[in-house]
Amino acid sequence: MEHTALAELLAGLPFPAFVVGADERIEAANAASLPILGQAAVGRNLALALRAPPLLAAVAAVHAGEAARDVPLRLSDETLFRANVSPLSGPGGMRAFCVLRDMTSEVQSEAIRRDFVANVSHELRTPLTAMIGFIETLRTSARDDANARERFLGIMEREAGRMNRLVRDLLHLSRVESEERMRPRDQVDLAGVLRGAASTVRPGAEEKQSHITIIGADAPVMVTGDADQLTQVFLNLIENAVKYGAPGQEVRVSVTRETVSRGAFLRVDVIDRGEGIDPIHLPRLTERFYRVDAHRSRAEGGTGLGLAIVKHIVNRHRGSLRIDSRKGEGSTFSVLLPEGE
Ligand code: ADP
Repeated sequence: MEHTALAELLAGLPFPAFVVGADERIEAANAASLPILGQAAVGRNLALALRAPPLLAAVAAVHAGEAARDVPLRLSDETLFRANVSPLSGPGGMRAFCVLRDMTSEVQSEAIRRDFVANVSHELRTPLTAMIGFIETLRTSARDDANARERFLGIMEREAGRMNRLVRDLLHLSRVESEERMRPRDQVDLAGVLRGAASTVRPGAEEKQSHITIIGADAPVMVTGDADQLTQVFLNLIENAVKYGAPGQEVRVSVTRETVSRGAFLRVDVIDRGEGIDPIHLPRLTERFYRVDAHRSRAEGGTGLGLAIVKHIVNRHRGSLRIDSRKGEGSTFSVLLPEGE
């Protein structure tokens, strides 16, 4: 193939591709490969352009007449490609045609999936192990001890409840994730949603002498959304504000309008005067199973999935979630939802 035709062919490929001549120089390279090989790559010796022993070995093998091969190409700790190297005959001898595939996101999503499965198994195993232990004790040493039986049954009930909540949140999460691309269409009264969520959380709040106050939602506030999912969002946020807030505090839920460059938004702030969150945790707070204090979260009956569910629902509504928190002072979780669409 003549040189310009080769360059045109490479230019048409939507991924990094280049040809290494029999003299080991890069004969042609497309634009997608230049960030990897360097801007002045064409004409350079491949070994000088890229430090990648497995790729160099594959190119040498193909130059020597061997069959095509596929090798990993790690460019940094985070970036992994695979390089397919195949023979391409030419006037000066056998050339090596190299095509690269970016595997980074595949490798990352595989790691995320593995972590997720490990987390779920761990979260389920802990209460399950406790329950198996108590069943054993009830059958043996505590068999005739009515007091112990009552106490152990109480613990087992709590542990079963924990597993139940975890399974419920996992199902929610998977449903919300699968619907994320489908925009909700119903007209929903946000004021009603907030009142509903607050009244569900109120009995728990009263146990801690906390009060929930809603501000700015006396008249209906209409938004395009999914009423059940929006209820879920504010249930989670108000519940968290009560859980991680100080006893006897006021949890304020306020609705305002905000216009930013992207358009007009309804903004709901859920404000607590609790322990607050160290800024280092904020970027990861909506990750599945991420907790500042896992012990505390479990003691409060948390699954570590609430904010992940919130984030997906807010994304589905084309809105955004902002977290503003000061250690020792409290936190504000703000949900912005596009208005009037
Ligand atoms: P959990 O079931 O653990 O409450 P979430 O996903 O709802 O899970 O929250 C994740 C973590 O974020 C919590 O474990 C807690 O550490 C932190 N968090 C959430 N809301 C608040 C809040 N209002 N104040 C302080 N920390 C909070």
